[in-house]
Amino acid sequence: MIAEFSAALTALKETTGLVKVISDAKTDAEIKAATFELQNKLLAIQSDCFILGDAIRSRDEEVMLLKAKVAEFEEFKSQTEGYVLNNLESGTFVYSKKQIVGDTETTVHLCPQCFTKKVISILQPTGEPAYNSHTNKYYFQSRCHSCTSLFPMNVSAYKPVW
Ligand SMILES: [Zn+2]
Repeated sequence: MIAEFSAALTALKETTGLVKVISDAKTDAEIKAATFELQNKLLAIQSDCFILGDAIRSRDEEVMLLKAKVAEFEEFKSQTEGYVLNNLESGTFVYSKKQIVGDTETTVHLCPQCFTKKVISILQPTGEPAYNSHTNKYYFQSRCHSCTSLFPMNVSAYKPVW
């Protein structure tokens, strides 16, 4: 944009010079030649102004997009305030925060997949156990309803009935 602006300024300066040439001209031929050049310079200035207008419009659009991104980021930041990366008993990493719901303090877990995409999705229990054959333990299981991922959570006292 600076280059287009400099070009327009240079063309304007040259136009002023041509006006002086016309007023100092002694013959019709000199006046005609300078007038022709003046017209060309004015057309060039007009074209530069169009280019500048386009550059300003695209810059404005860019600023609006960036402002929207900043607002989106700040909203995510304020909504996830206090959430910390947490390693559950199953080894699963989630973002957790202790919150008071009603009269009870409970830990709310957010989906780590969605968190990285700036989507806040609370993990919900499925009611099903998740078995890990390596630890030979059952874990509570939660699902993200946004990306449908399943997560083994903390150890459950679940014992299958054979
Ligand atoms: Zn998710």
